[in-house]
Amino acid sequence: MNLHPLLAKQIAKHLGEEALENPEFTSLIKVVSASYESYERDKKITEHAFEISEKEYQDVLQDLKKENELKKESIKKVKQTLTILDEKNASNLKDSDDLVEIIDLLNDQINIKNELEQTLVFAKENAEKAAKAKSDFLSVMSHEIRTPLNAIIGNIHILKQEVHLPHQEEFISTLHISAMNLINLINDILDFSKIEDGKIKFDNKSFSLKNLLSDVRATNRFKADEHQNTINLNIDENVPDLVLGDSLRLGQLMNNLVSNAIKFTSNGEININISVVGESQDPTHVKFSVVDNGIGIEKENIIKIFERFTQANSNITREHGGSGLGLAIIKKLLVLMDADIHVESEFGKGSNFYFTLPFVKDQSLPITEKSIESNENVLLEGIKVLLVEDIKFNVLVAKKMMENWKIDIDLAENGLVAVEKVKNNKYDVILMDLQMPIMDGLSATKKIRELGINTHIIALTASVSNDTQSEVYSCGMNNYLTKPFNPKDLHEAIRRAI
Ligand code: ADP
Repeated sequence: MNLHPLLAKQIAKHLGEEALENPEFTSLIKVVSASYESYERDKKITEHAFEISEKEYQDVLQDLKKENELKKESIKKVKQTLTILDEKNASNLKDSDDLVEIIDLLNDQINIKNELEQTLVFAKENAEKAAKAKSDFLSVMSHEIRTPLNAIIGNIHILKQEVHLPHQEEFISTLHISAMNLINLINDILDFSKIEDGKIKFDNKSFSLKNLLSDVRATNRFKADEHQNTINLNIDENVPDLVLGDSLRLGQLMNNLVSNAIKFTSNGEININISVVGESQDPTHVKFSVVDNGIGIEKENIIKIFERFTQANSNITREHGGSGLGLAIIKKLLVLMDADIHVESEFGKGSNFYFTLPFVKDQSLPITEKSIESNENVLLEGIKVLLVEDIKFNVLVAKKMMENWKIDIDLAENGLVAVEKVKNNKYDVILMDLQMPIMDGLSATKKIRELGINTHIIALTASVSNDTQSEVYSCGMNNYLTKPFNPKDLHEAIRRAI
């Protein structure tokens, strides 16, 4: 029988082995032996449990110590931060670790921050309102200034064509230059503010680089002749012709640089050089450079000339006009195209303004546009034009120009009258003003197209914005002329139309 060793020893000592032969005694002894064993087991468990809780206690103590250190460190950091935020009030906390006090101070800081945020939101809203007011003011004022200027320039064109005394030639020419300077200034200010407002979107349409650059040269030739300058256009053979991009903006950049080169050069030479940079094929990086051998720029002025309204030579400006905005606009436009304008110049020797732009080649077949030799002396006899315009002096100017070419002119004072006239008459071309009372030019064009009439419609617009241009095309017009237009532009637009 398996008895607890202590019990077995006691039985052997006091009762002898034979006591175990009694079955009743044996069963009692078994129970006693079992309780001996349970007692020992419980004792072991209790001792073990005690050992464990002692260990846990030590662990917990350790953790608490760590937490306490962390708390102290955190409070120290919060106090440091609070000192940065509010040194005066945080200095009162120097010796206190009272979390309630710290949290109160934190709450104060949060309230201050919230108030500040509200003020900032308010200031931002006010700034946005001010920017919008500025932009609205500019667009309204530019329109208001342009309208009478259009009439002035139109009348100057007529004066130039009319018989006048030789000594009046100079007056008319001064009038013309001054009025053109004014209109250019308005365009520049409007353009600059649009660029600053981030309202510029770039086209990505197919155009011919060669045609665009030839146009730039042709546009500036007259001015170049006045200064006895020659303009050469040098396009490297590997420059792609048909490319995708914004021809209007590239034309603006190049015209600006070329007209500056002419303005600051006399009896000299202007070279428009176009070349490919590096090996890149698609996109091809094309370098546009305008080199002159004019007055050049002094070293200390080179950085300044890209700032708005800054000119290196005020005498030249007084003589030839200029707003000092041209290069600032060029720089901003190029930055928006991820490029930059560079200049190398030597005072008294000349300047080289250049920039590089990437172009993706347009692989479609070139559309050969019949070039129209603009010669405003060609008569347009028998051509019937409907002029839709509400402002009397604009009517007078356009009518006078067209009468010189013997055009048969009909008039409509607003869009509604135009729609009625188009229903009952056949015209070769419609010249349509955009802003008119009763019915504007865009609505009138839509109505005319709804009638199934597809006469060529040319918009006459005082706005140069990209938005206006896309509106003009999307309502069904075929072309547009920006006021003030010169006789050559109007003549060319009518000839293209017919
Ligand atoms: P604007 O020509 O209307 O005065 P720009 O911003 O185009 O304004 O040019 C700023 C100034 O930079 C000019 O007034 C002139 O002093 C200088 N400048 C620009 N282009 C040339 C050039 N090709 N040669 C000499 N000076 C130039």
